[in-house]
Amino acid sequence: MSRIPTLAPGATIGMLGAGQLGRMTALAAAQLGYKTHVYAPDAADSPAAQVSAAATIAGWDDLDALERFARSVDAVTLEWENVPVATVEHLRRFATVNPGPNVLAVAQDRVAEKSFVNGLGIGTAPWRAAHSAAEVAAAVAEIGPRCVLKSTRLGYDGKGQARIDAAVDPTQAWDSIKTSAAIVEGFVTFACEVSVIVARGGDGAMVAYPAVENRHKDGILDVTIAPAKIAPATLAEAERVARRIAEALDLIGVLAVELFVTPDGGVLVNEMAPRPHNSGHWTMDACASSQFEQLVRAVCGLPLGSVERVADAEMTNLIGDDVLQWPALLAEPGARLHLYGKAEARPGRKMGHVTRLFPKAP
Ligand code: AMP
Repeated sequence: MSRIPTLAPGATIGMLGAGQLGRMTALAAAQLGYKTHVYAPDAADSPAAQVSAAATIAGWDDLDALERFARSVDAVTLEWENVPVATVEHLRRFATVNPGPNVLAVAQDRVAEKSFVNGLGIGTAPWRAAHSAAEVAAAVAEIGPRCVLKSTRLGYDGKGQARIDAAVDPTQAWDSIKTSAAIVEGFVTFACEVSVIVARGGDGAMVAYPAVENRHKDGILDVTIAPAKIAPATLAEAERVARRIAEALDLIGVLAVELFVTPDGGVLVNEMAPRPHNSGHWTMDACASSQFEQLVRAVCGLPLGSVERVADAEMTNLIGDDVLQWPALLAEPGARLHLYGKAEARPGRKMGHVTRLFPKAP
């Protein structure tokens, strides 16, 4: 039995956050006959607002605006896992919000996240919490000379991170990340990086897309290769781990789990995001139901869609000026171009992506 009511097409989904993930979710919602109302402090002419029926531009702490928003929609979801937990707690007085605050609390804080994952018996890089340069130095002494220092909160695309090695000492690294709470992780010499996207409904049903390989450039996802060309046992283990985490979180929605594949074919969890993920964009063009449609289905109490893959795929992000390639990409037979409607192509800004399909490998 589903714990959330089934919303019939015509209902309105409230979306916290107004970026490209919200935009592509709103497009998937529209395909199924739902409307979207976005809420974000910077929603005006945002990627999601451009394709939504309504937008509220207000702060995460504007209790009146949050209440009006919640009362005007039939269910609330989110495209950004750092929406303050207090915001979601307030919204939940007036509307169903999925994923819920318990999931966000884990996903917003790297220490909570790693503790949760390790508590399930799932491996991560060795790690220690640190609140000063001295604590960073003590952690490095225990873990080993090569480490990655990360702020516990609000890091993304490699921001708020510093390597510690022969060239950079713990104090330099601590001073560079400018935070009061950090995590020191042992440096993983990985064979490759993969991610698995799981969708879970209110009845506990789950589907998972195959693990994909992610290649980064300057700390930002560059290319996703779907499926990852890794050993079948590693593919299976990555999926098992992602499903286990989604279940343990009692997630309703979509969860992306990023993992390192170790040289012996094992996996270690790096981080997770309880929302559609850049490494799942290929599903829009290569699968029966996309990750965005799965989110709509999950939060509307609908049966999850098929994750059947009709083609193998390679997704390339268009970062900053890469977007200027749009005429050539449109002229390329079979290239599926997705642009996010962002006016200004700043360096490092995700402007769109292109997916190329290939016959499914046997
Ligand atoms: P994150 O924001 O945690 O996903 O880190 C961004 C990128 O930095 C990852 O995709 C990896 O390429 C790299 N990275 C992060 N943590 C580690 C680690 N412990 N060992 C090696 N590389 C890492």
